Amino acid sequence: MRNPQTLQEAIIYFADADNCLAYMAAHRWPKGVECPTCGRKDVSYLANQKKWQCKSGHAKRQFTAKVGTIFEDSPLSLQTWLPAVWLIATAKNGVSSCEIARSLGVTQKTAWFMLHRIRKAMANGSMMKLGGNGGGVEADETFIGGKARNMHKSVHERRISGMGQSARDKTIVMGLLERGGNVHTQVIQDRKKPTLQPIVRERVEVGSVLFTDEMGGYKGLNSDYIHEIIDHAVQYVNGRVHTNGIENFWSLLKRGLSGTYVSVEPFHLFRYLDEQVFRYNNRGTQKKPMTDSSRFSAVLSQVAGKRLTYAEVTGKVGQTAF
Ligand SMILES: [Zn+2]
Repeated sequence: MRNPQTLQEAIIYFADADNCLAYMAAHRWPKGVECPTCGRKDVSYLANQKKWQCKSGHAKRQFTAKVGTIFEDSPLSLQTWLPAVWLIATAKNGVSSCEIARSLGVTQKTAWFMLHRIRKAMANGSMMKLGGNGGGVEADETFIGGKARNMHKSVHERRISGMGQSARDKTIVMGLLERGGNVHTQVIQDRKKPTLQPIVRERVEVGSVLFTDEMGGYKGLNSDYIHEIIDHAVQYVNGRVHTNGIENFWSLLKRGLSGTYVSVEPFHLFRYLDEQVFRYNNRGTQKKPMTDSSRFSAVLSQVAGKRLTYAEVTGKVGQTAF
């Protein structure tokens, strides 16, 4: 059977344990199975146990396809994990833990933990600089969240002060978007120069065109970048000078957050960001067409070397998710 192309095909294909193992091994070890401990490639397959065995006599010489991946230590089978990865990798606006729980017949708590692990695989941590292909790069920040118990207060404040958005209790996210290319986001402490400018220098190719609003935090970057500023007090678009690309990304992100996810603790926000960034960067363009199947495949190729324990996710030690 060929690799699955649709959700329906994926469900049928991954109902079979051997298909799961073959698919997983091919993505994890594209150049052939190797021992996760010592890297030896002349390993033997123990068909009965669905494990491999290394020829060297070291500890952990027998290993499964899950060892060293986000699936390690999970009693759930790949037959449950892989359809979950498919659902998350291919959903336009994200999937809630309730939907995962319903679709796969696991508890919501388990689904929530699965989601976090899969998001970790989606975080590619690419250090490729933006703007290298000559596309201009838009920089902007947005405020996310605010605790529910402060809702009354902020509504109250807004009424009194007439301010549109209170920065208190909100998490600030900075975004850099290369037009026609990728997006990078990260949570930041404040919008001051010493915070914003090192991120621009680290992530954007010197000499690129940089588009920002009139915010002071970006002033002084014109020694290394062609800095074009749009003054939002005057207009939103002036020819090529605008930040509409990153602003569209913010609305996508917020639609996902409010529509699909019930609440996001600031502590977990970066994982939701990783998920949305993955979705955007794998959206498919004329130059780089993507299908659901290739998006799924991209996540699976990133599952190795990204373990995440329940204690890391929740900050609680001594509890298990399953
Ligand atoms: Zn070995």
